[in-house]
Amino acid sequence: MFVYSPNKQSLAESPVRPDDVRAHNSALLLRLLWADEEGSARVDLARQSGLSRATISAIVGDLLETGLVQEGAQRASRGGRPATVLRFHDGAGTLIGVELGASHISIVRTDLRCTILDSFAQDHDVQGDPVGALALLGALLDRFCAAAEAPVLGIGLGVPSPLRRDQPGRMSANLLPRWADIDLLAWTEARCGLPVRMDNDANLGALAEHWWGAGRGIADFAYVKVATGVGAGVIIAGDIYRGAGGVAGEIGHTAIDPEGPRCRCGLKGCLEALVGTQYLLERATERAACGKDRPRWAQPHPSLAGLIAAARAGDPAATELISTTGHWLGIAVSNLLNLVNPSRIVLGGRLTAAGDLLLTPLRAALDQRALWTSAEGAEVVISSLPQEAVALGAATLVLQDALSDPRPLLAGRSSTAVSAAR
Ligand SMILES: [Zn+2]
Repeated sequence: MFVYSPNKQSLAESPVRPDDVRAHNSALLLRLLWADEEGSARVDLARQSGLSRATISAIVGDLLETGLVQEGAQRASRGGRPATVLRFHDGAGTLIGVELGASHISIVRTDLRCTILDSFAQDHDVQGDPVGALALLGALLDRFCAAAEAPVLGIGLGVPSPLRRDQPGRMSANLLPRWADIDLLAWTEARCGLPVRMDNDANLGALAEHWWGAGRGIADFAYVKVATGVGAGVIIAGDIYRGAGGVAGEIGHTAIDPEGPRCRCGLKGCLEALVGTQYLLERATERAACGKDRPRWAQPHPSLAGLIAAARAGDPAATELISTTGHWLGIAVSNLLNLVNPSRIVLGGRLTAAGDLLLTPLRAALDQRALWTSAEGAEVVISSLPQEAVALGAATLVLQDALSDPRPLLAGRSSTAVSAAR
């Protein structure tokens, strides 16, 4: 279970006004109740929060009225007296998370524990066809919001681009020139009339891993996504590291071979130009064209799934392509280890279906290159989250906001709790 630390979102950091003590206390109790899936008695809440029993009773009364908290069975308290257990009601709200990939859109609808209730994914040339992508995205958002059984708190969007802090709704014009004039954040807010949060896909993958996956309980780790684009989400001291302008983690555009192939960013020999799906398949096509007999996995065109399946079946050319990709990825990961010293690297994206065929050469490159101080004790693992990890991270971003400042959660649910939250 991910334990949400109320200390991390202290009153000083929260947008709640310091003079609005009741709103602050409501937020505090709601976070404590969310964090304890087993449920808490009022006496537990008093001990954890330091608030008086009378204050707890008054605020719990408000929260029960909102439906966000429910009373369960009685159990013995430490003092031996039976006490009613209070639980956060995960079904009291809905989160929508979207991953806008370079070549697909995926969407999830979750409850307030980020349990996926419904999901859908469709291939689409998002990179090259923004008009069609927006039409598809709008239709999916309408469908998923309309089917929600509890109020939708907000929409999270994961995008295949770094996002500058001063332009949070616009993707990189260098990487996605056709999206240069589109403010996706503003478009989605206007279309849906809901709060929208947008972040880089690898950052959201890292967030999902931190709350629900291989990064739980780990303060310093990195998530590396290898898909059409390649990026890293770096968690330092429990938070996403964004850098001065908000665009940290662009491992895909670090140079692995300065004389290597031209990358879509305009530079030569970027990691992405060597291991990104599109470039990998281009090399596979060239390789297949060289042979006397076109391999079966390359007919009619190489696909990533076909290439991985062939490598798994022992095809030498496919195995070599995956192995070389693992080697290059290992060079990039060793640089990341030496720079940031995370204790774990979590690999995500479709290429990870290659498993040990990718990991073994990657680890060999690490052994060769990473300084023993940074490589020692660092593990490289493949994500165990579902394919929708980035969309799940997008939903988690909305949840994180709601737990930091629960006023939108309380809005419209109860006159007393709402007035307390204002
Ligand atoms: Zn590049």
